[in-house]
Amino acid sequence: MRVAAVCGSDLHNYRASAESLAARGQNRIIPGHEPCGDVVALGPDVRGVRVGDRVVVYHYLGCGHCKHCLSGYLQWCLERRGYGGPIHGSDADLVLTNEVNCLPLPPELGYVDGAFIACQAGTAYSALGKLTPSGKDTLAVFGLGPVGLCGVLIGKALGARVVGVDLLRERLELALQLGVDEVVDAGREDVAKRLKALTGGEGPGLAFETSGSGAAHQQLIDSLSFGGKAAFIGFGARDRTVNLTEIIGRQLTLMGSFVSPIGMYWDLAAFLVRHHIPLEAIVTHRFALEDAPEAFSLADSGKAGKVVFEWPAS
Ligand SMILES: [Zn+2]
Ligand SMILES: [Zn+2]
Repeated sequence: MRVAAVCGSDLHNYRASAESLAARGQNRIIPGHEPCGDVVALGPDVRGVRVGDRVVVYHYLGCGHCKHCLSGYLQWCLERRGYGGPIHGSDADLVLTNEVNCLPLPPELGYVDGAFIACQAGTAYSALGKLTPSGKDTLAVFGLGPVGLCGVLIGKALGARVVGVDLLRERLELALQLGVDEVVDAGREDVAKRLKALTGGEGPGLAFETSGSGAAHQQLIDSLSFGGKAAFIGFGARDRTVNLTEIIGRQLTLMGSFVSPIGMYWDLAAFLVRHHIPLEAIVTHRFALEDAPEAFSLADSGKAGKVVFEWPAS
């Protein structure tokens, strides 16, 4: 391992009680699913990967022969297994994986870029691929944690005007440093009203929801323009009430999106290289693995950008 990053999804287990982890059989599992590093050893009959290759490890294993695996949607395979649960994850010196999961890191990209592609940049790229933003669109990004910030950078590179929404000052400031066009402070402003004011009264046509907050879901639905589209990727909201009248009357398209299919890797890597997307600027804290308690506690506070574990070059 050279870089393994801490993800919002790791925090679900971090926040869970010891009893609930044990009940799910996850109390003895190494966390982490954002691995990037060097191949150090090969099993028999491995042909496509060599020792020394710099690789991103795709973080789902599938059966390898069903229709979902063959179409690249390993996360839809009935036998899918994810790193960090149920199989041992990336917060470790070594990870055991399959040849097909080793994705070659282009020389222009660093290990931090690779760790982002493994999960969060892949998630943002895949969701934005469904929204297809361009230079004529305003894209509202709800939640400016690392995935939201990936959405900001990728949405800008695709040509959209991007407005970021969050409650935390630190996150709004980081988004501004990364070039977001406008920010809305959800703790102080009426989000839907401000988003409409920023778009000539219509509301943004596109939205990318990463916060997992029920309040943000409602603000998003209230603010989208007629015919607007949104992709939801943030888990966590407990409120299951959705105002269908709003969705029908304004002809909204609301969709879920979850990580990215393995075959999208090559397009995303080439896109990051071509647009010089500075994913590394989202990283605010780097730790050695021995300092994991501090790293997780910081990530849990929500006051950091991306938190990563780094291994020295061998
Ligand atoms: Zn992740
Ligand atoms: Zn399968």
